[in-house]
Formats: sequence, structure tokens, C-alpha cells
Amino acid sequence: MAQYEDHMLILKSRPYRESDALITAFGMKSGKIGAVAKGTRRAKNRLTGLYPLSYAVCEIYHGRSTLDTITGADLVEGFSGLREDLSRLSWGMVLADLVDEMWAERDPAPQIFPWVIAAWQGLAAGESPLTVTLTASWQLLRLAGYYPEWQVCRVCGQPPAKGAVWLDVDHDSLLCAAHASGQEARLSVALGTWRTWQQWMALDVNRIGQYEAKGIIGSQMFQVFRQYVQGHIGRLPRSLQFLQEVENIGMEGAGTPL
Ligand SMILES: [Zn+2]
Repeated sequence: MAQYEDHMLILKSRPYRESDALITAFGMKSGKIGAVAKGTRRAKNRLTGLYPLSYAVCEIYHGRSTLDTITGADLVEGFSGLREDLSRLSWGMVLADLVDEMWAERDPAPQIFPWVIAAWQGLAAGESPLTVTLTASWQLLRLAGYYPEWQVCRVCGQPPAKGAVWLDVDHDSLLCAAHASGQEARLSVALGTWRTWQQWMALDVNRIGQYEAKGIIGSQMFQVFRQYVQGHIGRLPRSLQFLQEVENIGMEGAGTPL
């Protein structure tokens, strides 16, 4: 039983008991935890600033219960611009859902912090939500150990140079246009989509938002990501389903390479 301090990404919050909140947070030292924040739904509580998609330094009590208790919090960054728009908020939630889905409790991964924070900052600053979120999401997948071998064709060993690119989401491999004939159940994307993905994977975190995916490339990027997450994580985060319905993205584009 101990009191500790940790830098935390606040992922989720839901009402708990009469006036408390049950928080899902990801600590720099502690990894993902579930914690009770007492009295957050009363006015004038000093924890009211603790809302989802924020970054705070928290005082936490770890006792015998599986749930910790947050006893104090200092907000480091609230990403307020992110909350002004339902679409941006939903894109921000995709990252929170992904972190929640991919990491087990108390499995620290401090290397995810720069990507999540940079993405929430980009969303708050009005950068392209799809580009910022999906760039960070692919980097989170990589840090969690998911990294598809989409650099060269698995038959000829060459990077695709023209025509469509066929991504095998289930087997993490790629086929160039010349070697894709007769292949079933592959996702075909434009060469520009594949190149954008390559650029995102090589990007430094300080340059998040570069190589913006617009139009059909954006649609295909969304579709590829959705299928990859469904195939590898199993469950599609609700925020992603919501975005697909609300923004009507990823519905066209896939299977129709340029
Ligand atoms: Zn080939």
C-alpha cells in the first residue's frame, strides 16, 4: 500500500457511485490503471479538471483494491481545442481506445507518450484529424509489436513502382500489381496510399501531420487501418465505428485503386 505520483494520460472517465468518477489512465511509470477519483461530480472539487483526453500529474493511492484512488491532480495539458468539435473529439478518442485495447493493466510503455501527446496537440491545433490520428495510431501499433511487412512484394522482393498495391492484412504481406493476379481477399490501394503509409512510419514525432492524406488516399488509409485493427486487435474501437458512420469515410475508395 503506497502513495505515488505519476504522469498520466487520462483515457476515459465514467460516473461511479454517487459523485465519483471511474478513470482509465495510462501512467508513465505505472502503465494502464483503473482508478477512482472521488467527488469529481461535485462542484468545487479539485479533481474536476481530470477529464478524458488530458495529460496530468496525479497523486495516487495504491491499496489492496484493484482500483487505485486518485487523491490529487495537476493538469499539464488539457488540449482544449480538441473538445470544441465532435469530430476532433472522436478522432482523439480513437487513440484513447487503441491504448486501452492494446495494453494490459500495469504494463508501462513510456514510449507511447510523445505520440499520443503530439496527436492530441495536433487535433487541438486544427491539423488534419485523419492524418494526425492515423499516423500516431500506426506508431502505437508498431510500439505494441504490430508492424506489417509492407515494404516490398513478397513474391519479387521489390517495392511496388506502378499500378495498384495489394495489402494482405491477415498475413502482413504485400503484393505488387504484377504478382497479385488471382489473389482473393486482399485490399488494393493506390500507390500514393502505400507511399503515404511508408512516410508516416518513417516520420519523427515532431513532424506529425506531415504527408497529409486527402481524398481517396485518406479514404483508403482509413479502410486499411480499420481492417488491420479488426484483423489484429480483434475488436473495432467504438470511436472508429462512430467516425465511420458520422463522417462517412472509408466507405468508398477501398478496392478501387487509382
Ligand atoms: Zn512483385
